[in-house]
Amino acid sequence: MTVKELVNLLNVQDVAPFKFCDYKHDGEFAKFVYISDGEYKDLIEVFDQRPDYINKYDMLDEYIIDYMNLKGQSYGNDNIEIRFADVTVDELFILIKNISDVDRRKIIFKIVRNSCCLLNEDETKYAFAIFTILHEIGHNIYFSKSNKNVLEYCLWESNFRKKFKNGVGMYSEIPSEEWADEYASKNLDKNLDKVREYLSILVK
Ligand SMILES: [Zn+2]
Repeated sequence: MTVKELVNLLNVQDVAPFKFCDYKHDGEFAKFVYISDGEYKDLIEVFDQRPDYINKYDMLDEYIIDYMNLKGQSYGNDNIEIRFADVTVDELFILIKNISDVDRRKIIFKIVRNSCCLLNEDETKYAFAIFTILHEIGHNIYFSKSNKNVLEYCLWESNFRKKFKNGVGMYSEIPSEEWADEYASKNLDKNLDKVREYLSILVK
């Protein structure tokens, strides 16, 4: 089964804008996207070069208005999507097993094991795929709940991600990651039931 088919089986295809693409980037098999890579880089670069703001994060509104005036465009939520590698559930399991951040990989395995009772190898693979799908949906919900526009959210998020990149804390401690993990953990077993039901029909 492909991940795309699994999304349909779970009936979450309309919960968030899923998009399935060829797997290209190392490690990037699932991603909540709300701003293009180019815009992200640009925004952070311009932001980092603003020495005039003593506490930049208290002045996000001013900065964002300046930035939008500079760019002469407005930013909506049109770019939001959950980008997934168009792979099978089996292939996704291999990608997860090969995540280079060892701490992150360990935490994913721990969450999946603690969130449901896995009966066999097949179910295990589905559980990891479902965790990944729910985790990305969690990112989408977290973004909506933040009531921030994409630029505000981007700068706010980048602050946490920068700390992680500089060696402070773990990936799973980034607030949006923690929230998405919790959301996936809470909803894993009941979604796995849908797969269990599907698999039992196949056996009959
Ligand atoms: Zn995430």
